[in-house]
Amino acid sequence: MEFESILLPGMEPKRPIVIAGPCSAETEEQVMCTARQLADKGLKIFRAGIWKPRTKPGGFEGIGVEGLTWLKNVKKETGMYVSTEVATARHVYESLKAGIDILWIGARTTANPFAVQEIADALKGVDIPILIKNPVNPDLELWIGALERIYNAGLKRLGVIHRGFSSYDKKIYRNLPQWHIPIELHRRYPDLPIFCDPSHIGGKRELIAPLCQQAMDLNFEGLIVESHCDPDKAWSDASQQVTPDVLDYILNLLVIRKETQTTENLTELRKQIDECDNNLIEELAKRMRIAREIGTYKKEHDITVLQTGRYNEILEKRGARGEACGMDADFMKKVFEAIHEESVRQQIEIINAK
Ligand code: PEP
Ligand code: MN
Repeated sequence: MEFESILLPGMEPKRPIVIAGPCSAETEEQVMCTARQLADKGLKIFRAGIWKPRTKPGGFEGIGVEGLTWLKNVKKETGMYVSTEVATARHVYESLKAGIDILWIGARTTANPFAVQEIADALKGVDIPILIKNPVNPDLELWIGALERIYNAGLKRLGVIHRGFSSYDKKIYRNLPQWHIPIELHRRYPDLPIFCDPSHIGGKRELIAPLCQQAMDLNFEGLIVESHCDPDKAWSDASQQVTPDVLDYILNLLVIRKETQTTENLTELRKQIDECDNNLIEELAKRMRIAREIGTYKKEHDITVLQTGRYNEILEKRGARGEACGMDADFMKKVFEAIHEESVRQQIEIINAK
């Protein structure tokens, strides 16, 4: 695939390209008040969800076509470009009719090839920048597949949005960043602009700034950040939205580093290693938590901490599995001996606790 620039007339090719606005368009006042404040801060591209894919029924599912008129007014009054999410052919027709400048495909939609194809068909012959969010599940091929469907419909002004990946175990992040996935996408398609969506990755305001900085350090092209004139009263995603003032403050603090060409590949690979190591540490911590739960169970049932049969089984199975994955069986054994030792230490701590 060969991509063309997503920049619209008057937009500077300067990192980061920022898209900002509320999760959802709620009322005309909320849309206009947020847009005016963002435009005052010099922001050029407005976002607002008109149709909202909600996990459960009963929540605010978007204002619908009525909100498109408000986006038209944002354009007219502030001169900002406007963008929204489309999930069906009808959303595409309505958005194009309303003169929306940039469309994005949401994470739940990207995960569904039927829906993406329907959108691609509706977009045939149209020249408009499209941003494709990663699918909710960490599947790079599915993400690329969605890009290909839109590209094959003749749209070349494409970009992607990294918004993190769903997991059962929600800890720090609402959606795990798994940075190695967008990094690998960038390695395969160096000309494809990548936006980071710190709002949906973090799920909370305090994570927006560090996530924006990390995206800039990874050489991402842009940021799409949820901003609301009165975040606490937002009808969707209240905990992750920031005021235009706070957003401006965050953007001004960003350090934008240049990348030197010669070490580019090495730097990228090292970032992937860092990411792998961080994932290993998180997984290990999860394993230790479970080990401690087992410790509690053993304590309550008067079972010894060390269960030799189980230990041998672990060493053997992990050795074989590691070997099947191209690693030395002895190395694998050493790793699991060390892990097991730490698990036993943690369990003994539990047993000895009063
Ligand atoms: C959104 O951007 O408001 C949205 C619904 O995001 P996602 O598709 O990433 O969940
Ligand atoms: Mn949202």
